[in-house]
Amino acid sequence: MLQLAEIFYSIQGEGEFTGTPAVFVRLAGCNLSCDFCDTDYSLKFFASVDEVVAKVRELGKDCPMVVLTGGEPLAQREAANLIEALRRDGRRVHIESNGTIATELPADVWLCVSPKERVDARMAKRANEVKLIVDGGVPEQWLELFADKPRVLLQPEGNKPKNVALALEYAKAHPGRFRLSLQTHKFIGVP
Ligand code: SF4
Repeated sequence: MLQLAEIFYSIQGEGEFTGTPAVFVRLAGCNLSCDFCDTDYSLKFFASVDEVVAKVRELGKDCPMVVLTGGEPLAQREAANLIEALRRDGRRVHIESNGTIATELPADVWLCVSPKERVDARMAKRANEVKLIVDGGVPEQWLELFADKPRVLLQPEGNKPKNVALALEYAKAHPGRFRLSLQTHKFIGVP
């Protein structure tokens, strides 16, 4: 059984796929507990892999993109089965992870790693997208680990003006590699 917080159909509000319709499957629980975390990933219900796939179908119809998020979606034992079942159902699976749990993923799964207190080097290497949270400063300590990535997204914590200004200033000073990533879904009031 999977432990879930919510499943909903919306748009991807942040990162490389901003504006893309997607079904979000928020898995419950996280192996970290960051001070600034504003996500409710508490357990709301249990569902089998098949039940989650059926719910994705019901909400998203033929929407190709499914985002597995959390909490930490890769912390659940059945995460690999869920990924497989969604791929078999014709979905393009995206994962939003803190990058702490080394996991083999099929090549067509899009992995976004947003480092917090630690990152497994294998997940850093596997990441298709890197999102650094800017909270009072750009966390430059992660840059070496992601040195092979041509692009790094800077996401101001809570869309706070002070953090937006810091991220913007940094991106403008390093225009070749850094890009501002805002949580646009919060501006338009969708989940
Ligand atoms: S890793 Fe992400 S979901 Fe987990 S506690 Fe930190 S901010 Fe929240």
